[in-house]
Amino acid sequence: MNTPHVSPPPSAAQRPIRELPDELISQIAAGEVVERPASVVRELLDNALDAGATAITIRLIEGGIRLITVEDNGYGIEARQLPVALKRHATSKITSLQDLEQVNSLGFRGEALAAIASVSETVLHSRTQDQPNGFALDARTGEISPIARPVGTTVEVKELFFSTPARRQFLKSEQTEQAHCLEAIKRQALARPDVQWTVWAEGKQLHNWRRYTGPDAHTQRTADILGQGFIDDAIEVANEDLRCRITGFVGLPSVARSRADHQYTYVNGRFVRDKVLMNALRRAYEDVLHGNKQPSYVVFLQVDPRSVDVNVHPTKVELRFRDSRMVHQVLQRCVGDALAQPRSTGLLDTSASTLHAPPAESAPIKASPSATWRQMGFGHTPQAPSGQRLGVSELQALWQPQPPATAPLQNPIGQPPPAPLPHDTPADDWPLGSAIGQLQGVYILSQNQQGLVIVDMHAAHERIVYEQLKSQMAQGAESALTQQRLLIPLSFSATEKELATANDHTETLAQLGFELTPLSAQSLAIRAVPAVLAQGDSVALVREVLSELAEHGTHAVLQRAAHDLLAAMACHGAVRANRHLTLTEMNALLRQIEHTDRSDQCNHGRPTWRQLSLKELDKLFLRGQ
Ligand code: ADP
Ligand code: MG
Repeated sequence: MNTPHVSPPPSAAQRPIRELPDELISQIAAGEVVERPASVVRELLDNALDAGATAITIRLIEGGIRLITVEDNGYGIEARQLPVALKRHATSKITSLQDLEQVNSLGFRGEALAAIASVSETVLHSRTQDQPNGFALDARTGEISPIARPVGTTVEVKELFFSTPARRQFLKSEQTEQAHCLEAIKRQALARPDVQWTVWAEGKQLHNWRRYTGPDAHTQRTADILGQGFIDDAIEVANEDLRCRITGFVGLPSVARSRADHQYTYVNGRFVRDKVLMNALRRAYEDVLHGNKQPSYVVFLQVDPRSVDVNVHPTKVELRFRDSRMVHQVLQRCVGDALAQPRSTGLLDTSASTLHAPPAESAPIKASPSATWRQMGFGHTPQAPSGQRLGVSELQALWQPQPPATAPLQNPIGQPPPAPLPHDTPADDWPLGSAIGQLQGVYILSQNQQGLVIVDMHAAHERIVYEQLKSQMAQGAESALTQQRLLIPLSFSATEKELATANDHTETLAQLGFELTPLSAQSLAIRAVPAVLAQGDSVALVREVLSELAEHGTHAVLQRAAHDLLAAMACHGAVRANRHLTLTEMNALLRQIEHTDRSDQCNHGRPTWRQLSLKELDKLFLRGQ
């Protein structure tokens, strides 16, 4: 047995305790603050913004390893202060504990420049307003010399980690490091549309994001960085909660990505990666994004600086909220509500067709209550007078292979019997208009004031059923779905696993509205199913539910699994393609969509309906051109 020989650590008595030299302390601190070129970029940008810059130019050579310069037009540093700026724990931003508790600058620890200078060749160039010329300070030699330059500061960082080769080895390829630097720049640029950003790499200009100061500044900047496509398919969010003001853009499922690389959260202007925020956003999207898709968003939170501790992480990318529950709740609700608003984009905005939507139509959709309908150009949101809301019964009619003309409508979830369709409202006053026909057994065509509406009937119906199941789950006394007992139990031959699952999850199944009993060692009887789904293919439904339960069956995951499960159930319950619908049935479905949260997307995040405006139709036919 060859255990490698490890020499014992020197005992404390072997060496005297000494204070470390300044340079070494800074290099140790640099280990925390300066991980890679992108960390330098971030710190220098923080400083430029803290100095009130309105134009910042960044230059990178070899991914920032060879050279990073950040030039700003901020208020500059006086000549005699230049050496102080490089000192450890030297800052102009706070002077007391009280200041620390309500920081409103990006920096405050006074360690970035010292740390950076200790692991690179750093030169500061700066000029203030009341100096006729600027000065340059070489951090290594301490030499100061006069220079000609405009007001502002340029920090030049050469040969990062040249003195600490071990650190340098940890760096990735130049390309990777450059990508990290560019990402660091985007994070800051997104938050500051009022600053002009110019980015050069290897002598080539990569970006020039101009300064915006108008009311659409954030929209414009977000489009600069995440693309017009993101803005087209994003909802602008805003709330009125003074404890935690939220603004920004949340992407619809259509702009979800496979990687979590378009997720930007800011607290008081500082980019952060915080668990509370990420969790709240994940929850807000839970209902519209299934599978492993990652949402895209840019969300700014404004809180009282005293209610958040930014001094918990050397790079300040993490923080601690005094009241994290409140923040979680406010954020989840604000984003969740925005995503729940029904909306549709014009067909031409997103299609890859050769036609281009006019720019005015690419403005983001605002998510104030009922604003979505208005944004879409509807003069008002027609409200169904109470009692005119369509019940489950009409929907149930949709499943029936041949709608029985005389059969009494069942009313399983106890809603008042449905009133006839409101004939007093002209049908095209309804947001989704009045049905004019069915296309290939898949789409419903409808006309409204805007033009033509096209509805994917299965997808839309699935969403409606899902939302109904969910609200029954939430309202039910024991959070149970209403059962409907079958007159004649349905039996089917079941696998061992299905039998075992049915046996293990009797209670959960009952909550979901099912009653299953074993008939033999190879078969199960279905005695009751959820009323909303009673008309569907019960055996397929039970099979699906058993397999979902087998996968997610423990109590700990029931809450989460319940949603996926309900989604799967809804899919079984929803009207299938190729089902012929009458105009009345189609209109019933349209009205139901209008009254269902999130009904603009199916459970898989696809759109359920689209608006094709007259203007867009005119374009298609080159009318008036
Ligand atoms: P901090 O930003 O935490 O104060 P730094 O080490 O990053 O610490 O910077 C030290 C000080 O140098 C800052 O407090 C600021 O006064 C000054 N400084 C740094 N960069 C700039 C700049 N671009 N423009 C003006 N002053 C700057
Ligand atoms: Mg700083």
